[in-house]
Amino acid sequence: MRAIRKVAPGPGLEMAEIPLPVPGMGEVLLQVKAASICGTDLHVRNWDPWAAEHAVAPLTVGHEMCGIVVGHGSGVTDPPIGTLVSVESHVVCGVCSWCRTGKGHLCPETRILGVHRDGVFADFVTVPAANAWPDPEDMPLSIASLQENFGNAVHTVSVPEIEGRKVLVTGCGPVGVMAVAAAKALGARSVYATDVSAFRRAMADRMGADATFDASTVDVVSAVLAVTDGEGVDVLLEMSGAARAIDNGLRLLKPGGEAALLGLTSRPITLDIDDRVIFKGATLHGIVGRRLWDTWYQMRALLRGGKVDLGPMVTHRLSLEDFDMAFDLMASGNTGKVVLFPDPTDADGPLYRP
Ligand SMILES: [Zn+2]
Ligand SMILES: [Zn+2]
Repeated sequence: MRAIRKVAPGPGLEMAEIPLPVPGMGEVLLQVKAASICGTDLHVRNWDPWAAEHAVAPLTVGHEMCGIVVGHGSGVTDPPIGTLVSVESHVVCGVCSWCRTGKGHLCPETRILGVHRDGVFADFVTVPAANAWPDPEDMPLSIASLQENFGNAVHTVSVPEIEGRKVLVTGCGPVGVMAVAAAKALGARSVYATDVSAFRRAMADRMGADATFDASTVDVVSAVLAVTDGEGVDVLLEMSGAARAIDNGLRLLKPGGEAALLGLTSRPITLDIDDRVIFKGATLHGIVGRRLWDTWYQMRALLRGGKVDLGPMVTHRLSLEDFDMAFDLMASGNTGKVVLFPDPTDADGPLYRP
């Protein structure tokens, strides 16, 4: 079968022919139907310091997908052969104290598809049956694929109290934009968003932001104070990892406000803890992955209940063979989600032509 591989430590990816994987005990074999590219995949392609420290090689990359169950390992009967499933990319141990107390997303033994074990940019992949999430049969393949990533947004939005609150989203990459949509759907009074990219601000506008601001040309603090009657916001959803965005966001947080932090800073940053956190009585939440499986049920409600339409998030569809072009598009910053199709005739919209 074909697989997009990191063949050895260092930059770059290549398409390789490798043997069909065999599902082990408790695993299913999935035929990949659609797989979306994430920022993490770019780190692994570039082999930056984060990837060099965390990822293994050789490795098949990619972790966001949907596919059809085509084989069962021993002990598995569910989901049945032929089921369309999405995949939770974090494989957890199931027996540690976190897993046993409903906090599996914090499992110290977590192994991530496409980082620690073979991922999904391939014709087939094996995953634990417990990581397969059956989808409605009529769900578009690109939407089914990007649920994993939508889950990061839904998790971030659902930790602070959001209903009736004024919300600021700093960073409008795909997760930030989906967080805008989720915050509106979950009853936020107003949602403001910042980014340096005009393309991404336009996506945030389209997905429901009340106002967006160019963080490179506008004084974000004054601009947000101006639209919030000088109050600032109740909730900060930090998606950028940029030190200035974190500082501005916490400046804008009202006393007693809550900040949920998802964006990775990649390196230590400095922060005025006294004025931005302590004297405000602010609460900071670190967000990792998706709550297992609360976040997936929340997503199902938002998507199937018609509260969030992720259709506009999918801006580019390409054949798996065109992975290099797809990664370059994603790296440009001028995309929403970029989705790869092993069989291009499966594409649920027009294929991208440069
Ligand atoms: Zn991802
Ligand atoms: Zn565990």
